[in-house]
Amino acid sequence: MKRAEDLRELLQKIDRRGYPAYKETAGAYRFSDYILSIDHVQGDPFASPSKVSVIVSGEESGFLKEYYCNVWRRAALQDMLIRRFYQKADAFSFQAKGSGKSGMIAVSRPGQKILERSACQIDEKSGRIVFCLEIGFPANGRTVNARELEKILFSFLPECIRESLYAKAYSKKQVGDVIHLSDDQQTIREELKKQGLIAFVANGAVLPRATGVSDKPMKNAVKFETPVSMEVTMQLPHAGSITGMGIKKGITLVVGGGYHGKSTLLKALEAGVYNHIAGDGREFVITDETAVKIRAEDGRSVKTTDISMFIGMLPNGRDTKAFSTEDASGSTSQAANMVEAIEAGAETFFIDEDTSATNFMIRDELMQRVVNRDCEPITPFIDRVEELYKRFGISTVLVAGSCGSYFHKADTVIQMNRYVPVDVTDLAKKEASHFPLELAALKPAEKPDFQRMLFTSKAGGRDRMKIKTMGRDALSIDRETVDLRYVEQLADTEQVVMLGYILKYVLQNMSGGKKTLQEIVEAVFHIIGQKGMQGIYGGKYLAAGLAMPRKQEVFACLNRYRK
Ligand code: ADP
Ligand code: MG
Repeated sequence: MKRAEDLRELLQKIDRRGYPAYKETAGAYRFSDYILSIDHVQGDPFASPSKVSVIVSGEESGFLKEYYCNVWRRAALQDMLIRRFYQKADAFSFQAKGSGKSGMIAVSRPGQKILERSACQIDEKSGRIVFCLEIGFPANGRTVNARELEKILFSFLPECIRESLYAKAYSKKQVGDVIHLSDDQQTIREELKKQGLIAFVANGAVLPRATGVSDKPMKNAVKFETPVSMEVTMQLPHAGSITGMGIKKGITLVVGGGYHGKSTLLKALEAGVYNHIAGDGREFVITDETAVKIRAEDGRSVKTTDISMFIGMLPNGRDTKAFSTEDASGSTSQAANMVEAIEAGAETFFIDEDTSATNFMIRDELMQRVVNRDCEPITPFIDRVEELYKRFGISTVLVAGSCGSYFHKADTVIQMNRYVPVDVTDLAKKEASHFPLELAALKPAEKPDFQRMLFTSKAGGRDRMKIKTMGRDALSIDRETVDLRYVEQLADTEQVVMLGYILKYVLQNMSGGKKTLQEIVEAVFHIIGQKGMQGIYGGKYLAAGLAMPRKQEVFACLNRYRK
């Protein structure tokens, strides 16, 4: 292997030459306690920056083997390294000067959630760290400015690496706290399953966020406190005994006056499919990791989804066992979102009436008298919610501030009162008994048909598909936009980037066959399980800037591709 000094000499040699001379720097170089690998060199100073990775062996890095031995600990450790590296590198970014992206040092920047990212991968056996980042190789105009690159590679980067990728850069407590939190979170996830719960919200948790566009905790918020009747205590390996609200499987209704914190509770539950960092306020808000937020999404495209359990024959005679549209209505979109979530393995639905189609949720008695059932294709969710639990095993947490009919269906009713939950199940049931629901004869739902195939026509002749992402909201592939705005549990722009590569992989490698959508997603996750994100990304080097979405969001993305 070439040595660091070889790189230094090479840089001196190519200084002031035309920009393409940088291409010669590609390759791996041995530094004293890591390897620097220049994986891909940008073509010009304005192109996307060069790809660089740093490899530190397990012995060199010195982290205890037990800190990366299992999935959740490894994810937490990787996340800690990325945060520190980002913090250091950000201070150096653009300190080296030049034209275009000269001097840029781009490292993934995690938010409040702990996600598996391509930026840092630790090998579970050897502890070898591969850290990926991007560097804008400096230029004056279009000539190489190798002295500035030398600054980055021989001064800035070594400092970032020294202070983030080695155990000795952290106190024992710093690392211990991160690892122990991940153990405690994992324990709660396992306890949920054992105790038949779909969610746990610890006393003292901070649910509201600082602002509508920030994922940071609100200061001086009212801390969460469980109603006694829903109190659950768990023994955590590190934090010890912890008490909070346990939401049981079944149907849970969240009611309360406007502005009393209903949607805030639901949002926190939605986010609980991910683990959060210490200080977030939601460290111990943990929910069933298959849970999916279901909302109306007017205008989305739907392809051959079997929504017949909610929507029968349409006035235009269209079949709803394989329903397709380029422009779904509120109710059909919400029905499709629900059935597709079942297909994606969801065992819990989160629904907020704020973002639901009223006619999907309910049909009141007066309306039933005036408009005969035969003229209404919709079987509202209220008529299916019990069946979904009893026959399909899917629980629901529903925020309903205005619709009392659900009292009849709920196992538990929580009232949010000035941000404090109160168990009002008994009162709600008693009051509801004075308003019996008129039971219409209803045929049981047929199990939706999941044999549908979305990618049967070969996406031909396109080796170089161009992926673009628009923040967290959308991605486009060869100019075909996939709208992800309402896929609300997508947490990070890097997940969107990864979805782009997954969609591209599916189009290039799995289209044109007879695989069902479920089989396609299974196959994608099988590849990722074996080869990591690289298996999907392809190419010779791993890109920085990818984060793993859940299986549920992969389904959601593939379902929203219009071609
Ligand atoms: P609802 O859905 O019941 O109408 P929201 O959940 O939207 O109410 O909350 C209304 C407002 O109260 C929001 O601005 C939110 O940030 C704030 N809020 C929610 N929970 C708390 C809390 N625990 N402490 C302080 N403010 C809160
Ligand atoms: Mg609300």
